[in-house]
Parts: sequence; C-alpha cells; structure tokens
Amino acid sequence: MGTDTILKVAISAPLRRLFDYLPAAGGKPAVPGGRVRVPFGRTSQVGIVAELANSSELPVSRLRRVQQVIDTAPLLQEADIALLRWAARYYAHPVGDVFAAALPALLRRGRQATSTVRMLCATAEAADLDLSGLAQRAPRQAAILTHLLDEPIDAASAPEQIGAGWIDPFRRLVARGLAGEKIIDLATSPRRSRVIQAGPDLTAAQRAAVDEALAEATDPLPLLLFGVTGSGKTEVYLRVLEETLARGSQALVLVPEIGLTPQIVRRIRRRFDCEIAVLHSGLSEKERFEAWMSAQSGRASLVVGTRSAVFVPMPDCGLIVVDEEHDPSFKQQEGFRYSARDLAVVRARRAGIPVILGSATPALETMRNAELGRYRRVDLPERPGASSHPRMRVVDLRSVAASDGLATTLLAAMQRHLEAGDQVMLFLNRRGYATAMFCSACGWTADCPRCDSRMTLHQRPYKLRCHHCGRQTDPPSCCADCETELKPVGQGTERIEETLEKYFPDMPVARLDRDSAHNADSLKALLEDMRSGATRILIGTQMLTKGHDFPGVTLVGVLNADQGLFGTDFRSDERLAQTILQVSGRAGRRERPGEVLLQTSYPQHPLLERLIDGGYADFAAEALAERSAARWPPFSHLALLRAEAHDRSHPADFLSRCAHAVESSRAPHVSVLGPAPSPMERRSGRYRAQLLMQSPDRRSLHVLIDNLLERIDDMPEARRVRWSLDVDPVELF
Ligand code: ADP
Ligand code: ZN
Ligand code: ZN
Repeated sequence: MGTDTILKVAISAPLRRLFDYLPAAGGKPAVPGGRVRVPFGRTSQVGIVAELANSSELPVSRLRRVQQVIDTAPLLQEADIALLRWAARYYAHPVGDVFAAALPALLRRGRQATSTVRMLCATAEAADLDLSGLAQRAPRQAAILTHLLDEPIDAASAPEQIGAGWIDPFRRLVARGLAGEKIIDLATSPRRSRVIQAGPDLTAAQRAAVDEALAEATDPLPLLLFGVTGSGKTEVYLRVLEETLARGSQALVLVPEIGLTPQIVRRIRRRFDCEIAVLHSGLSEKERFEAWMSAQSGRASLVVGTRSAVFVPMPDCGLIVVDEEHDPSFKQQEGFRYSARDLAVVRARRAGIPVILGSATPALETMRNAELGRYRRVDLPERPGASSHPRMRVVDLRSVAASDGLATTLLAAMQRHLEAGDQVMLFLNRRGYATAMFCSACGWTADCPRCDSRMTLHQRPYKLRCHHCGRQTDPPSCCADCETELKPVGQGTERIEETLEKYFPDMPVARLDRDSAHNADSLKALLEDMRSGATRILIGTQMLTKGHDFPGVTLVGVLNADQGLFGTDFRSDERLAQTILQVSGRAGRRERPGEVLLQTSYPQHPLLERLIDGGYADFAAEALAERSAARWPPFSHLALLRAEAHDRSHPADFLSRCAHAVESSRAPHVSVLGPAPSPMERRSGRYRAQLLMQSPDRRSLHVLIDNLLERIDDMPEARRVRWSLDVDPVELF
C-alpha cells in the first residue's frame, strides 16, 4: 500500500476516537478538514477527515471505504483541527462530538459548502415608492425596505441588521417586486474594511491598554483588561480591532450571551464599514450556515458570537476578544463541557495572536494568572468624562422596616431619584411571584414531586412551577394535609413588581426576567423602553447583570444581597461579588453620580465590607487567599464525575466503583472527594450523585482521567446510570 491511504475520520458518536476508512473507490481524493460520507454500522454518516495516515490499528482488510467525498477543499484548516483535537483530549470528550460542535447543522448533514453569499437588496421600483404609505400598512416591511434602500445587506447578518423574523416581511417585499436577492461570489469579492467614524481621544489608561494589546511579540501573553463598567473597555477593543483590520486580518469577538450581540455589533458598525458574521443560538440553520461560511471563507472581517463561535474557522484571524470573561455562560454545561474563554486563550496561543480578556470583575482564575505573570494586566481605573463611580452602601434589614421586601430607606431613596427624573433599577435573583406556597397551620409546603425543591408560585399565568424540571401545576386552594388556606411566602420579581405598582402608582414599572423576556423581541422591547426612559423602574433578575447599559439609571437596589453569602459552592462568594458589581455598574453613566443600596441582614459580613470599601481588586485578593488556604481552584484543578439514575443506589454504586478505580491506580497528587449526593439530590425524578477529583497538578489529573475513562468502559455499573465528566467545572452540582 502507498503512504497516507488511511483516512482518520471524526464521526459524531459516543466513542473517544477517530474511525479509520479506506479512500473512496475512484473519484476525487479526500482532504484533511473536508467532509466525507462513510458507512457507519448499518447507516451512513457525514464525518470530517481529521488526518491522513499510513497505518491503522485494524487490519486493512477490515476497513471499509469512504462512500463519497463531499469537500475537495478543506472546511477546517490544520490549526482548526488541532484545536478541536486538543479540546477533545482536554475535556475528555468524544472527538467526533467535538468536531460536530464546530460545524453548523447544515454542514453536518452534508449540505454543499458554498463560496457565494446572498445579498438582500431593494429593487429600482422601490426607490420610487412612497414609503409612508407602506409604513402605515406594513411597518415591518417599510423598516426593512428603508434599510435596504440605504445599502444591500448580507443575508448572514440580516437578523442583526433588520431583526430576527425578517424572512416573512422580506418575502412579501420580494413578492411585491420591491426587494430581491443578489448572489455574490466570495472568490471575486475581497474582504473590505474601512473606518467610517473616528473614536474619541483615548485616555492615558486606554492608550496604554491599546499599546499593550498591539505590542509586537511573537507569542503575546493574554491580556487582562480590568476596568469597571463604563471605564472604556469596549472603546479599547474597538481601537485594537481597527488596527487589526487595518493590517488585513480578521478578528473574533466573543460575548457571553446572545442578548449582548446587538449592542456590540451596533457599536462596531457605527465605526467600521465591514462584513460582520454574527453567530449565536438564535439563528435559523440557514443564517448560521451563511455566517459560518462568511467567516470561514475569509470574507467576514469580524466574527461576533457566543460560546461556540470560538471554534469558527477564520483563515486570517489576528485577534480574539473575550468580553465579560468572568461570565459562567462561557462554560457549556452539558454534553461537551468546554470553556470558550479558556479555549480562546488556547486558540490564540497556538496561533501566536493576541487575546484580550475584558471584565470589571475578572474570574479569580484570571486574576491569579495575571498575578503569576502568565497574563499581562492593564487596569482602567476611571470612567472617562464626568461620570463617576456609584456610591455603595448597605441597608440593614434588621433595623429598618421592610414590608414586602422593600426597606423604607430604599423606598425613600427611590422616591428621591424618581422625583429628580431619573430611573431606578432593582435586582432580585428570583423570578415568579412567591418562592413557596406554605400552610401556616401545619407547615406543609407545595414541593415538586420530582425534585428536592419547592414549587414557585407564578401569577401570570396563575401556576405553580418547578424551576428545576419545568413541571407546572394549578396551585391548590388549600393545604393538602389540613385543608387550611395556603399563603404565598417569599418575594419573587412578579410580587415586587406588584408592590411597586402600589407604592408608585404613577411610575411605569417593568420587569426583566426569563418569563417577561421569553423571546428576542420581547427582550428587545423591554430594553428599548428602559433606554428611552419610558420605563422608570425596572425590577429584574440575573439578566440585568448582562452588560446592558441604562444611562438614565442613577439608583440600583440589590433586594437580597444575602443570597449567596452562605452558599455551599466554593465559588458563591465570587459570584455574589461579581453580581453586585455588575448590577451596580449599570448605574450612573451620566454626570450625576449613581447610588447603590444593598439590602442585607448581615451588614458586617466581611465580604460585603471588603467589596464596599476596597472594590473588586481587594475582594479578589482576600478571596484568593481563602482559596489558597482551602486548596480550591486556581490553587488546584478539578474534574467532576456526575451520575444519575431513577434508582437511588445506582449512581452511588457506579461512583464508588470509580472511586476505587482511582484509589487503586495510586495516582500521585490526586485526591478524591465523595461519592456524595449532589446538593439537590433528586431532580426530574432522577437521583444524582457526584465524585470530585482534585489535584494541584493538571497533568496528574489528566492522566488519572484518561485512566479512569478506560476502566469505566468495562464497568457494568456504568450502564445503569447516565454519567458525565466535567473538567474544570464551574458549578459543583
Ligand atoms: P465599558 O466597555 O468598559 O463598559 P465603554 O467603552 O462602553 O466602557 O465606555 C463607556 C462610555 O464612555 C461609552 O459611552 C463610551 O463611548 C465612552 N467613552 C469611552 N472611552 C472614551 C474616551 N476616551 N473619551 C470619551 N468617551 C469615552
Ligand atoms: Zn396544613
Ligand atoms: Zn421539579
């Protein structure tokens, strides 16, 4: 046999290896990074050639042939393949699944890769049309047409530019002869990028950050950009992007949430005329495919996306930006459990390009990396211009009356700010109306029959819901045990909203949580009303912390700062500090100084005192000292093995067996905690348990994991549970 005649193919299957095939009989040759259709069991599958090799562990006579070569040019370059294989090893996840995560669904199913893009444009007829007529009859169509008359837009960025759900109105415009599609060949349309608006003069600190990010280096260290909200981090990104584009490179910008893409894209678009491929979970398959192709072909200058965009191939990527790098959303919590932030660092290092990690509240891991000199760090200590840091103080819930979850001190402050014409934002991380339904006679509570948790009462619609499994029932009218009337207890956002309407009858109140912002359009409308000032008081959950800026807000109230003060997870303190600062950071962007009130029953808690007196840097130093003493990350590395089953004994049996396997392998420097039931043991009718493996040395941990996974394959106990492995877990349940 000749050399390199075995194809090692990544196929989406729960096996931790590549599969060997012989080339197709005749036809075009397969290429690494290109797709092939192969026989797999009794079916056929689309896979990606990861490597050409000249030998196989199997006898050649047992190998099957590729059925069809789909791509004759690679979709993934060598560097992309190397990153995916590295990720599969690091996260100990089946390599075929990892490759699948990197491709849009249409490509996974075998759709031809195109070298063309669809441009949406207005027709000549549209130019003569009286738009006001159309605007009355069909406002959505008119808005889209106005946009297209301005300039044709790439279908890949249509959702961003003309809104999700653009397809129907666009089709109607086409039917009326007012709009159409033009196909453009990527090969003959080079990448363009042009600055259309200069940014403001940089502050000295921003200048230093930009210079540091662009400093000539063959292997630049990751750069931590540490600056409070509003300190001008985005402006730094924009300058560095500008320089990167000017050098003819592409750049990748990662944001934690789909909801944050429009605002960053809007800011980029105001600055540059260039192709932006936007990638997030809210796209249709076709949109996703087009955006991906635009990045992969090199036509898009910028790729802006959430987590999975870290895998998007870009032929000339010269910079990666990870905004809000501390955000847990960068970690995928199911299936292939990777951290997009960490992979961005790995990708940049392998490519020898700079990566900027920006945050007002960096992850303690990142702070530590900067402390050790593995990352560079530049601080932006001040907000540019007149706006200053908000003033933060606690409201002691033990000494002031707080009916309905709102202390009198807070109510008075709200009154003051509202009378001055400003907006108020309240944070409570509990959606729904009441946290439980409670019988005051016998203590009975409405619990979820499938989970170890209480049901949350919702008013609109009137239901009991379990926030862990999604179960929903009609609220009982009285106690199941003693027939006493039930009382709703605890405050959720719906209930606070109702209370606010009582206290401030003339003020428009809005609520931002997963129930009120159930889709992209409702979220957009809520944010819009807040920005325009139509909403005066906004009550919301964690969603408020996600980088949305509300310039008119001067007062922020954190209704329950105690949530998280006594958490069981070693990260609770960090999360709480981040949440408080991120919520506060939304306030006081204008000239008037902002004010932040934290309602707590523990005003002397050291964490709160640190945070208020010294800000995040002080808090982080203290928290890192505690982590060091307790040997938690970043002073050790973790891998969490989870298992669940309907039968309570099965997860425990399986994990005990695993714990034995680990102990008998006598792996040095590794300790094992558990097995133990998960903090919420029963969820969706399944019992859950976990085994935590910990080591100060990453390599030892990985040797152990590889070893363990091999043993698990032979364990009969493994077949009775659903299990998963989480390397560098961010949640310990
Ligand atoms: P961050 O990303 O840290 O929250 P931004 O970059 O959004 O901060 O900046 C906050 C506000 O300050 C924005 O309105 C931005 O336009 C403005 N800004 C940023 N840098 C400057 C500067 N050098 N001069 C004037 N205004 C600036
Ligand atoms: Zn009762
Ligand atoms: Zn439940």
